[in-house]
Amino acid sequence: MARYIMVIDTRRCVGCMDCVVACKTENNVPEGYDRDWITEEVRGAYPKSRLEIRSERCNHCANPPCVSCCPTGASHVRPGGIVMVEKNKCIGCSACKLACPYDARFTHPDGYVSKCTFCIHRVAEGLDPACVAVCPTHCMAFGDFDDPASEVNRLLNTRPHHALLPEAGCQPHIFYLT
Ligand code: SF4
Ligand code: SF4
Ligand code: SF4
Repeated sequence: MARYIMVIDTRRCVGCMDCVVACKTENNVPEGYDRDWITEEVRGAYPKSRLEIRSERCNHCANPPCVSCCPTGASHVRPGGIVMVEKNKCIGCSACKLACPYDARFTHPDGYVSKCTFCIHRVAEGLDPACVAVCPTHCMAFGDFDDPASEVNRLLNTRPHHALLPEAGCQPHIFYLT
């Protein structure tokens, strides 16, 4: 079974937000909410500092506190390491939103908690997630961490990279090339 991850090249991202719009369209995300977003951060010390532009979303963590705290089992991990919310089991208590250090979840107007699904419906058909597919600079790669020959592993093996808030201990599985 695969272990899905995303590898995002911050040197190619131009912050155009096509990924954000594509996600909204693909997943019918309600107005005023987002499953993915753009963050800009100055990294490094002058004179070697640079502006890092990142497309961010749920990190599909390997040690997800949003899952362990969920009282109903609505938040769960699917094969492939994809963290999901079963909306029919969700009581909207928001424990998972408080537990997530990435602020990756929101309460849908219909009362359940929602977030990035890694576009599991597309992946099941052999397609890339919508945000990956639409990116005009091809800065995002989606693939199998457990396959040594995958493009995501080739990128991780050849480029310096980091994940967000590793100190939180969630073992995030989105990696940013620097
Ligand atoms: Fe859970 Fe947040 Fe990690 Fe996503 S990023 S798996 S919502 S802790
Ligand atoms: Fe679980 Fe829903 Fe509560 Fe989140 S809001 S912890 S998914 S029941
Ligand atoms: Fe949205 Fe799918 Fe990209 Fe997640 S993987 S941010 S659900 S388009």
